[in-house]
Amino acid sequence: MGSETRMEDLLKREIPFEEDEDGFILMAERGGGGGGGKVVGLVLVDIVNGFCTIGAGNLAPAGPNKQINTMVEESVWLSKVFCEKKWPIFALLDSHHPDKPEPPYPPHCIVGSGEENFVQDLRWLEEESNVTIKRKDCIDGFIGSMEKDGSNGFADWVKANGVNVVLVVGICTDICVLDFVSTTLSARNIGLVPPLEDVVVYSKGCATFDLPLHVAKNIGALAHPQELLHHLGLYMAKARGAKIVGKVSLGS
Ligand SMILES: [Zn+2]
Repeated sequence: MGSETRMEDLLKREIPFEEDEDGFILMAERGGGGGGGKVVGLVLVDIVNGFCTIGAGNLAPAGPNKQINTMVEESVWLSKVFCEKKWPIFALLDSHHPDKPEPPYPPHCIVGSGEENFVQDLRWLEEESNVTIKRKDCIDGFIGSMEKDGSNGFADWVKANGVNVVLVVGICTDICVLDFVSTTLSARNIGLVPPLEDVVVYSKGCATFDLPLHVAKNIGALAHPQELLHHLGLYMAKARGAKIVGKVSLGS
């Protein structure tokens, strides 16, 4: 335990990063439709039972988890704001077929198990007209949005809604969130997702799983201490060009 804490302190000291101080102000950014403001779309990454609900499978939390609870609460709040205003939401849901494993992970979010569905507090999103749901069976949600005809469901959503800025929340900060953000930024840089300009990651709206070293050792797995990997995920996203905000608020 002691060495884990020292390592966490060391890395946070060696690779600190600043979150955008003013945070992200929604109405001012959004421009209320038709104004000169930016159109903001909300991206929900894998806020499914299999990653968030206690005991819901191999990759679900074993007990109450503050970082995951906060991520779900903030995502529910943002989803309500976006749905009230009919602003666009793109929701990725990790969903796997049992005969198609996803190494290095154990089976998770298998279709029909319930693990692949929104957490209970977000189930209502299935009925909302401003929400586009994309089930994906790979880590990277941009790649997972590729269709058989070569089109990309995420790029099509950006284009159809004229999205200039995506606000990204979900789980896991250092895995599915980071991969989606990184690929989206690469795609933006070569003009694949017009009119997208910016990718904003809301730190409190993201979470990752917790597998401390002393537990990982016993089961022969790679250690994954939650606070440290959350920090690293945000750091890497920022290093790739995302904006990291610690606060999202509604402007007047
Ligand atoms: Zn998966």
